[in-house]
Amino acid sequence: MSKLTDINYVKAVLSRHGFTFSKALGQNFLVNPSVCPKMAALCGADADTGVIEIGPGAGVLTHELAQLAYKVVAVELDERLLPVLAETLAGHNNVTVLHADAMKLDFHRLIQEEFAGKDVVICANLPYYITSPILMRLLEERLPVKAITVMVQKEAADRICAAPGTRASGAISAAVHYYCEPEQLFKVSAGSFLPAPKVDSAVIRLNILKEPPIQAADEKLFFKVVRAAFLQRRKTLANSLSAGLSMPKSAVSDLLISVGIPDKARAEEMTMQQFAAIASAVSRAGENP
Ligand code: SAM
Repeated sequence: MSKLTDINYVKAVLSRHGFTFSKALGQNFLVNPSVCPKMAALCGADADTGVIEIGPGAGVLTHELAQLAYKVVAVELDERLLPVLAETLAGHNNVTVLHADAMKLDFHRLIQEEFAGKDVVICANLPYYITSPILMRLLEERLPVKAITVMVQKEAADRICAAPGTRASGAISAAVHYYCEPEQLFKVSAGSFLPAPKVDSAVIRLNILKEPPIQAADEKLFFKVVRAAFLQRRKTLANSLSAGLSMPKSAVSDLLISVGIPDKARAEEMTMQQFAAIASAVSRAGENP
């Protein structure tokens, strides 16, 4: 078992470096010894596969990934953790820690420079404050990766994995199902972290699809329609689209009826095919916003 999951060891290393947890950076470090080996084993890391980790913290997951992967590049924003990581990961010669903001980093370039000719996966215990934007960024950039395995808050996991057309779905569910096949792997209790957050978490794996499951004639417009549809969740689809696409309500109602969708329908009832049909109708109506 790794020393890094011994809560006393981690506390001692962090305190020796004068480290204090930053809530703003979503710093809840894993201290449950069973979680990281399981996550590393399920993310697809092996001797021919490189791993990008976002937010290594004290290096607990990095350590497990490094034992399985060809190479790990761990991207950490908090520079106070760099000396900590230099100490905790000293025994690994296949780990590079990059001091960078994952929201701004050029991942295409990183993959080209660090993992040429290898399969690549992403694995991370994500800081909760960037869960949706970072996932959207990783997916929209169509990175050449096989899968993205992340720990997120349980509620976010449910939303991300919900099939479009079901009650729990949101804009992110549609985006996720466009690019990948999501799977919930296992739940992680709040007590597995230091400090313990208020809510439980879950590990999900997004298996990247080669082709989207539906044909969207204009991808950008498709996502604009999806975002607009969920903008005002409590309102009807017609009202939400009218506000989100700056179109008169009557024009939206006509357009929905033309593709067989009642104007009282709600965004969460729409399947991917229906969103694609709405986007095509918006485009045909010359209302490409
Ligand atoms: N992987 C560690 C673990 O499981 O114990 C730490 C996970 S903690 C939930 C999130 C980590 O992401 C922290 O180390 C935090 O400093 C880092 N982080 C926060 N925002 C970031 C960003 N924009 N780019 C890269 N790392 C970030």
